[in-house]
Amino acid sequence: MAALRLEIVTPDQVVLSTEVDYVGAPGVDGEFGVLAGHIPLLTALSIGTLVYRIGNKDNLAFVAGGFAEVADNKISILAQSAELAENIDAERAEKAKARAEQRLQQAKQQDGIDVVRAENAMKRALVRLQIAGK
Ligand code: ATP
Repeated sequence: MAALRLEIVTPDQVVLSTEVDYVGAPGVDGEFGVLAGHIPLLTALSIGTLVYRIGNKDNLAFVAGGFAEVADNKISILAQSAELAENIDAERAEKAKARAEQRLQQAKQQDGIDVVRAENAMKRALVRLQIAGK
């Protein structure tokens, strides 16, 4: 029986609040997995895929930035942005990818381009496309 609660919250909305059996999340120090009974944990999140298992079904969500906290059989994902796989707009991600590619290309000839920002935008777009299966 599920005994672990998952909440994914962004500055805009509650993306998900549900009972789960397992969560795998992208911490800045690597992926980490949480089952019921996990010890308390606080970690920063990177850009990546969150897996949440309900029964024997693995579901995917995109998360970028923010924090994860585990306490009392609850995992709270407080992310800068997050979407469930089914809510990812692949066309939008393709456009974001093209913009980031252009910025990274420009950075080779031009000063004043924020390369890290463009690389992060690229990473968000690529992970979204991967989750959306595109
Ligand atoms: P874009 O340049 O398309 O805005 P981004 O990576 O800069 O992409 P974020 O800053 O991560 O966007 O997110 C801004 C808001 O837009 C968040 O609410 C996020 O959930 C939403 N969002 C961004 N891209 C997508 C997408 N491809 N599908 C669904 N929602 C998205």
